[in-house]
Amino acid sequence: MSRKKIDIVIEKIGIFFDSKRDNPKKPKPPVIDLLIATKLSQNTTDKTSHRAYLNLKESFKSWDKVADAPIGRIKECIRVCGLTNTKAADIKKMLQKMRENYGMIDLEFLRDYPDEKVYEELLQYDGIGVKTISCVLAFSLGRDVFPVDTHVHRILNRLGIVKTNTAEQTFEKAKDLIPGEKKVKFHTDLIKFGRNICKSQNPLCNICFIYKECEFEEKVIHRKKPVSLEMNQNNFIILENI
Ligand code: SF4
Repeated sequence: MSRKKIDIVIEKIGIFFDSKRDNPKKPKPPVIDLLIATKLSQNTTDKTSHRAYLNLKESFKSWDKVADAPIGRIKECIRVCGLTNTKAADIKKMLQKMRENYGMIDLEFLRDYPDEKVYEELLQYDGIGVKTISCVLAFSLGRDVFPVDTHVHRILNRLGIVKTNTAEQTFEKAKDLIPGEKKVKFHTDLIKFGRNICKSQNPLCNICFIYKECEFEEKVIHRKKPVSLEMNQNNFIILENI
């Protein structure tokens, strides 16, 4: 796909989701808050992980208290978002290790680090991978990073922007293809587009406004399936709401 076509796709999807545009005046959330929220959002919906995040914050009031809490109490707070055992154990262990490493649970020093050093620093914690760190860079540190989840990977391949087998490969390829300042917004727009239109099983190709640009062979078949324009408006993105 040509650069011009990529720009057209970014623009059309951006216009469609314009009502949800970022508020540039919204302050960036603390790095540790964003990291915990991203961790909770793994393998679940944004709505349930947001509820788990708020439960945790409201119940403990500080991350120090979470680090010292019995694991059962942490599990109780985050039960709604699934994978409770792993998430609770990883979060508690990570917070304790941070306190050992830095003398306190505070990651604001990462704001002075270049991207590569942020990856290096956070990869030492169990259960924290490149995707999670990319979200921290994008949504808390304000960097031009393009996190790739399952929606983003699927859509970029259908469109023909990349031809990859894994989300990790897509992340590497997309780094140079998506213009810097558009990366974060395009990421969130693609998630909304993937939830509402370019769905995994039944993409709504017959109402798709980038049908012409799309290189997905099966779009012709899907176009024939009758669907209503009614969308479920599943546009809540947890990382825009921390
Ligand atoms: S035409 Fe279909 S497959 Fe292509 S981007 Fe649109 S919804 Fe997705």
